[in-house]
Amino acid sequence: MLALPATPRNKPRLAIVVPCYNEDEVFAYCQRELSHLLDTMVQEQAVQPDSFLLFVDDGSRDATWAQIKNACAKNQHVQGLKLSRNVGHQSALLAGLETAVRQADAILSIDADLQDDIQAIPRMVEAYRAGYDVVYGVRESRQTDSWFKRATAESFYRLMTAMKVRQIPNHADFRLLSHRALTALLHYTERNTYLRGLVPLVGFPSTEISYTRGLRTAGVSKYPFRKMVALAVEGITSTTTAPLRLIAVLGLCICLLSLAAGLAVLVQKFNGATTAGWPSLILSVFFMGGVQMLSLGVIGEYIGKIYLETKHRPRFHVESFIGGTAD
Ligand code: UDP
Ligand code: MG
Repeated sequence: MLALPATPRNKPRLAIVVPCYNEDEVFAYCQRELSHLLDTMVQEQAVQPDSFLLFVDDGSRDATWAQIKNACAKNQHVQGLKLSRNVGHQSALLAGLETAVRQADAILSIDADLQDDIQAIPRMVEAYRAGYDVVYGVRESRQTDSWFKRATAESFYRLMTAMKVRQIPNHADFRLLSHRALTALLHYTERNTYLRGLVPLVGFPSTEISYTRGLRTAGVSKYPFRKMVALAVEGITSTTTAPLRLIAVLGLCICLLSLAAGLAVLVQKFNGATTAGWPSLILSVFFMGGVQMLSLGVIGEYIGKIYLETKHRPRFHVESFIGGTAD
């Protein structure tokens, strides 16, 4: 591994990491906009001239990789990393961060659809230059998201706060990390990656930069409902064991309640009143069955995590890399 030549804090070597999955509709626009922004920042002496963009192709099935290769051939500030298959947003991003950390002082991540305002990037770099190691991009409003996405996201953040998970509300994966913060982050070698939950654990001076989230420039969201739920479950189970405790408390409450109900039935019997009919009996059996299955499911989710973690499987494989000096 090559050691990085030292750069002053106020003029970092910046890497912008962009995970791409079937993004051939937005790639050209994304690359043009980001390259233009990078050139401007270089001219303004805000970042080093050897700052670069790194596009990670997360096993796309369309022309994304062909476009990345093309961009690398034309522009020396563009690098491309191709993963051997689709591993999902979080792991793809991690692959990009691992590659970028070897070559940059400040590493920024952004989605390919540029829903996150790229005009916030110079402000984020400014914060880095002012001494912050972690700069979170925080959405000011979610007007461009559907009401359903807004409502589900809102409830998710509430739930996370209730479970005392440290998380920055309305922050996705648009953030800047210093070399040392990212190096620390990469020490978290768990397979179940939920970067939003891990970054706050790293510490170091951090700040937030707010921006307005726009619409996708083209193409469709790569996060259908199914993946959103999967990410939310990942977020909860990889950061807290509160649901397990909740199950225990729930179990205790139900035990106490049924004990009280049992006593009430006994009293009724001694008073000669007939016991209530079948519906209540059947309903309580079904309810208890449901609670037990749900609880088992939650426990199973955690056991599944342990199972996957113990295998220590690699999170991704790199098929090819173009550009730069990363080994
Ligand atoms: N992405 C990825 N692998 C996947 C799914 C998504 O690398 O399996 C990338 C995608 O190309 C985009 C980013 O993750 O750059 C976020 O996806 P998207 O914009 O579709 O999510 P949304 O904004 O709808 O939550
Ligand atoms: Mg998006």
